[in-house]
Amino acid sequence: MPNTIRVCLSFDFDAISIWVGPKQTRSPNLISRGEFGGRVGAERILKLLAAENIQSTWFIPGHTIDTFPEICQDIADAGHEIGYHGYCHEGPSSKRALEEEKAILLRAIECIERISGTRPVGHRLPGGNLGERWTRLLIEHGFIYDSSMAPNDFAPTWHRLGDNPRTDGPYEFGEPVDLVILPFDWNMDDAPYFSYEPGSGRPGLRSPAEVLEIWKDEFDYLYQRLGKGVYVLTMHPQTTGKGSRMLMLERLIHYIKQHENVEFCSLRDAAEEFRTTHHGRQSLR
Ligand SMILES: [Zn+2]
Repeated sequence: MPNTIRVCLSFDFDAISIWVGPKQTRSPNLISRGEFGGRVGAERILKLLAAENIQSTWFIPGHTIDTFPEICQDIADAGHEIGYHGYCHEGPSSKRALEEEKAILLRAIECIERISGTRPVGHRLPGGNLGERWTRLLIEHGFIYDSSMAPNDFAPTWHRLGDNPRTDGPYEFGEPVDLVILPFDWNMDDAPYFSYEPGSGRPGLRSPAEVLEIWKDEFDYLYQRLGKGVYVLTMHPQTTGKGSRMLMLERLIHYIKQHENVEFCSLRDAAEEFRTTHHGRQSLR
């Protein structure tokens, strides 16, 4: 019987980029959290993935590649997929000219190519929204999937262009385009549960045991009730790299491995499989 559940572990390797970029801080305390991710957290995760023989996906900003080249090279050399996540964690912005947007995209692609030898095909928004202009840029530059939203929490879907958010009548859905959406959902992300930021109002610091229960229940629902689909987790080395959360991730991996017909794979593999089985069923612009 073929594997029917794809489990995709994904890591947003923001390191210091998120602090000095969008959060615009120069606080050594906050920057040291990114440094922990870059020097310690990523290495722990990489070791665990090697021990468990798991292929995963890392969304790495160019800034992280330039700041921590050795560990990023280790990630690439271990065969993990590397996807786009901005140069310094910039989200798309309508305030920038098209050429400026393109320059960020190309600079980050060049960093990924330098360490992996290939252009990225996967994308996760570092912030902002996947507007039409940015979506077209992704398609033009050879991206095959985005993992920034979840119209279906356990299944890939096609992205669309031309939605019309009417309020005087029903919402009008646009036409599907050749860009796969792989689920990203905040309840499957480590940051809202764990990341504590003083003064932000975000409590964080939840018990890893509690989060393990939530993530196991999400897996059980997919496995027992749906029987088929993709299970995508998003983690950050500076957050999940802490001891208690590393043990949580190890326990979750062992729990999932007890099930039959389940395969760990990269998001790229899940997207390619969806494209192979679903192309031709509908016309894509
Ligand atoms: Zn990020």
